[in-house]
Amino acid sequence: MPDSSPARRLVSADVQADDTQFETTLRPRRLDEFTGQPKLKEILAIAIEAAKQRGEAMDHVLLIGPPGLGKTTLANIIAQELEAAFDLTSGPMLQKKVDLTGILSALKGRQVFFVDEIHRLLPDVEEVLYSALEDFRIDIVIGQGPGARTHSLPIQTFTAVGATTRQGLLSAPLRGRFGLVLYLKHYEVEEMTQIVERAARILGVPVDDDAAAEIARRSRGTPRIGNRLLRRVRDYAQVRAGGHITIEVARTALDLLDVDPWGLDEIDQKIMLTILEKYAGGPVGLNTIAASTDEEPDTIEEVYEPYLMQLGFLDRTPRGRMATDRAFSYFKIDRRRPFDPQAPLF
Ligand code: ADP
Repeated sequence: MPDSSPARRLVSADVQADDTQFETTLRPRRLDEFTGQPKLKEILAIAIEAAKQRGEAMDHVLLIGPPGLGKTTLANIIAQELEAAFDLTSGPMLQKKVDLTGILSALKGRQVFFVDEIHRLLPDVEEVLYSALEDFRIDIVIGQGPGARTHSLPIQTFTAVGATTRQGLLSAPLRGRFGLVLYLKHYEVEEMTQIVERAARILGVPVDDDAAAEIARRSRGTPRIGNRLLRRVRDYAQVRAGGHITIEVARTALDLLDVDPWGLDEIDQKIMLTILEKYAGGPVGLNTIAASTDEEPDTIEEVYEPYLMQLGFLDRTPRGRMATDRAFSYFKIDRRRPFDPQAPLF
């Protein structure tokens, strides 16, 4: 059952109604404005430069990572750096083959074509993409019934940028057609602090260094959440504290909004408490955790666990998931305390 409590929504990495306008303002436009992900940026910078020197379309790029980490931003940056046109669509928007053949046949030479949520393409639509990505051709059926003929038409060379939050749902043939497969990781607190400070500068909000770090720490390593928390704290500062964000203002505002000190949301907490309390710290299998939390195993693996592992709360071992000492102490659970089947779990 989706949880719509305010705290859960505030630290959700998915796009929310009032994010869109701010995201457009805050989105970095060039690679050197894009904070963090150093290895990925270096690989992209080389690919972009090489393509420009050769005057060719750049290799297709697949960006894999949890929501809100900058995949759409990077797709835009690639186009900007290549000085190429940019078009975007998403897996769920393409319902029929003709939706995609129409777009592909209108692409301009060497432009960037961004397909968000590429794991959600319908199988027959996905097949259209195979020949387009590999040979820059699309198959068009002309006529109907027994007289129908398939024509293979050339299209302009282009760079596809695919984005997915769920690589487990991506078919091997599709994945294999991307020359560059790049992973985005959650941001470290220092990187998130820079992102929050940059956003504050653009929005003209005065924020102290330690206050920016506090907002950063509660943002789940996710720029989208950092930008959102900054907006909420800015509102609080404006109405209650004369507009300046000090550490006290940031803490009071975020506590008021029930944002966890490390940005954990309810699903993160359920996952951890299942391992810590129900299974005495593990090892526990992924499917068991999924059954206890009502989430899909691959959502847990691809969306939730990366952040919990980055915090050092969770280890993946061959025998299953294990909670760390750090997790026991954060959740104030005694390792030796026997499990009480009568006690409420959540
Ligand atoms: P995704 O496509 O992965 O869901 P987006 O690219 O839409 O994420 O990023 C969400 C917002 O977070 C963007 O509008 C941008 O303002 C901000 N953002 C993402 N990555 C960065 C970054 N590395 N540096 C600064 N801001 C970022």
